Amino acid sequence: MYTCKHFAIHELVPPNVYKDRGEKAWQLLDDRLLMTLDKLRERYGKMTVNNYHWGGDREWSGLRTSDSPYYSPCSQHSFGRAADCLFGAASVEAVRQEILANPDDPDFAMIGSLELGVSWLHFDVRNCDRIMTYRP
Ligand SMILES: [Zn+2]
Repeated sequence: MYTCKHFAIHELVPPNVYKDRGEKAWQLLDDRLLMTLDKLRERYGKMTVNNYHWGGDREWSGLRTSDSPYYSPCSQHSFGRAADCLFGAASVEAVRQEILANPDDPDFAMIGSLELGVSWLHFDVRNCDRIMTYRP
C-alpha cells in the first residue's frame, strides 16, 4: 500500500471520513494520485490540499463524499482520483503549463486530466487520452 511521504491522510479526505476511518482512509485513494502528489510536492515545494486540521477552510479538495456541497457523482474527486492543490511558492498557472508542455516527464506520467482557468491545480488520474483538459 502506498501512503504519501509529504501528506497526512487528513489532508486528502474530509473530516467525516478521517473521523470514521483514520489511517484506513488511505485505501479510498488511488495510489497514482498519491504518488503524483508526492512528486509535485518534491518538485514545487509546499502544497495545500485540505487544511481543516489546522483550522483552515478547505475540506473537500481531495476525496469528496455525498455530504459535500460540491459533490457530483461522476467527479473524479468522488472516486479518490483527484486533488485540488495550492502551492506555497510556485504559481498554479506556471505548474499547469509545465505539466501540459511535458506530459511524458516521469513526475507527470500518471496525470490524466487538468482543469483549466481555475485558481487551483486540479489534477486527476482518470482513464483518458492524456493529458485531457476541461473547463469548470
Ligand atoms: Zn478538482
